[in-house]
Amino acid sequence: MTAMPPRSSDLSPATIAVQAGRPPHEPDQPLNSPLVPASVFVAGGDREYGRYSNPTWEGFEEALGALEGGRCLAYASGLAAVTSVLDLVSHGETVVAPRHAYLGTLHQLGELERRGRLVVRQVDIADTTEVTGALDDAALLWIESPTNPALEVADLPALTEAAHQAGASVVCDNTFATPLRQRPLDLGADVVVHSATKYLSGHADLVLGAVVTRDDQAWRALDERRRSFGAVPGVLEAWLALRGMRTLALRVDRSEASARELVRRLADHPAVGCVRYPGFGGIISIELAGGALAADLLCHATEVWVHATSLGGVESTLERRRRWTAEPATIPEELVRLSVGCEDIDDLWRDLDLALAQISS
Ligand SMILES: *Cc1c(COP(=O)(O)O)cnc(C)c1O
Repeated sequence: MTAMPPRSSDLSPATIAVQAGRPPHEPDQPLNSPLVPASVFVAGGDREYGRYSNPTWEGFEEALGALEGGRCLAYASGLAAVTSVLDLVSHGETVVAPRHAYLGTLHQLGELERRGRLVVRQVDIADTTEVTGALDDAALLWIESPTNPALEVADLPALTEAAHQAGASVVCDNTFATPLRQRPLDLGADVVVHSATKYLSGHADLVLGAVVTRDDQAWRALDERRRSFGAVPGVLEAWLALRGMRTLALRVDRSEASARELVRRLADHPAVGCVRYPGFGGIISIELAGGALAADLLCHATEVWVHATSLGGVESTLERRRRWTAEPATIPEELVRLSVGCEDIDDLWRDLDLALAQISS
């Protein structure tokens, strides 16, 4: 008997990342989604204008939508996606949000609260009892998991169930986990937010964001806002991000394998007081035994690891997060966030080990 051909619903995420969002397999069609720089489309169709839609965005949206299991909209940046989703919350309503999260998200929530637009209740997102206890009268539960840069992990199934029981919608920022390690819509979330600037595009060469949802009403409301706010992605960015996503599985597997090995080696290192790792993915946060000064020295002592912000690229980077004054004071001064890239693990370890020895001497 011959095996049945695989149905597209059975495909694994690594295959979806390679195959989704391409033109139909027909003679003379390009294999890749074409780059279509256009502000104007001939009237009479659905497109009309470059702020409403673009075929190049759609290739990226199809691929990420397939990976997350919903319908996707691409944005000019991750923060454009974050602010657009927060705009769905009505005036004066309550948002339960993590105390530790991406700085820009925290800043935006703080601004909206300061202007009386929203009420924000901050919680430790890893403390399920604290979060569920804060959901009374809330319109929205905002989850980021793992959190940036403390790497706390939320119990998504428990939190989404409790939120829905309390009548709140759930958004999950899935930037750190990627759809290869966590599919929030399958775990009950209503909306997924991404900074595609990070792992999805993966080469530190663009800024892009995305939202994915299965809720048609939310999708339409977001599409309408994207048109009217104009927070639309650049065509080249969407095209490059889709190209980057083709290797997402390779890059995530590689950086995770290296991160796991580095966590084992760092755990015994006398210069490192504490290693935070959520158990998956390519981000590690370490706390230096020598304090903030040692952390700053480390960032300047490496050669293979680049001292730079952001994360999720093929290049390994490191940074002391509290160098940003807006980072919450509950993030330790001596915390250095490591984004493990795709370089050789022995080169990464030797460089880090030498730098740690240098700052300890
Ligand atoms: C970087 C980041 C964002 C913001 O995305 P931009 O593309 O920089 O606007 C949002 N959430 C998380 C978790 C991030 O790391």
